[in-house]
Amino acid sequence: MATTQPLIGIPCRRDRSGNYRLKPILAQAPAYIPAVVQAGGVPFLIPLDLPETGLRRLYGLADGLLLPGGGDVDPARYGAGPHPTLGDVQPERDALEITLTRWAAAEGKPLLAICRGIQVVSVALGGTLWQDIPSQLPKAVLHRKGKPGENPPDFLAHPVRLTPTSRLVDILQAGVVLTNSLHHQAVRTVAEPLTVAGHSADGIIEAVEIPGHPFFVGVQWHPELLVGDMESARRLFRAFVSACREG
Ligand code: MN
Repeated sequence: MATTQPLIGIPCRRDRSGNYRLKPILAQAPAYIPAVVQAGGVPFLIPLDLPETGLRRLYGLADGLLLPGGGDVDPARYGAGPHPTLGDVQPERDALEITLTRWAAAEGKPLLAICRGIQVVSVALGGTLWQDIPSQLPKAVLHRKGKPGENPPDFLAHPVRLTPTSRLVDILQAGVVLTNSLHHQAVRTVAEPLTVAGHSADGIIEAVEIPGHPFFVGVQWHPELLVGDMESARRLFRAFVSACREG
């Protein structure tokens, strides 16, 4: 049934920083919420530690899914051993997001994947990742300067050239977009039905999509941090929420 304000499910992460009374909490970065709201959607957070039947119930309520940024996917998920730079790995979050990805890909539920999200969808559908761009691809452009948080999060680090035949070209109405870049990992290979929709100049995969799906798009940058200034970022969220409305 069509709805004017579609529900967008966003998985939580486990915050182990101890910033809340020294205890781990379930959390999510706040910028996804206004980015969805300004596009006309109503976001809700999906907790970790659900049984699959409960997850399926929330999936059923969602008109669309947003897979947000976060730590690294467990390399065991794509048959690799841990690189020395491997960051925070949360197997329970990997499991939840991979399950949601496979359901959404198979069943035509709209999905927008951001940063870690593009890596999750690639792994969920049979692809692999670069575990650390600076050490594995030393000639790559700068995708994350210094420690996380050193650059302003909306700093436009590098352009992404979109695949001319991609849906993203129609959505963003541009062949090249300037992007922020806050990642040390990246998609290395994609498996069907996922296709590459954009690269940075060093050849790193920065966007993916499933052709023919109502809306299944992954971007390596963080458009939720750019909606205040960039029309192309707003276009991405509007196209996503529109697809959720029509679903
Ligand atoms: Mn990048």
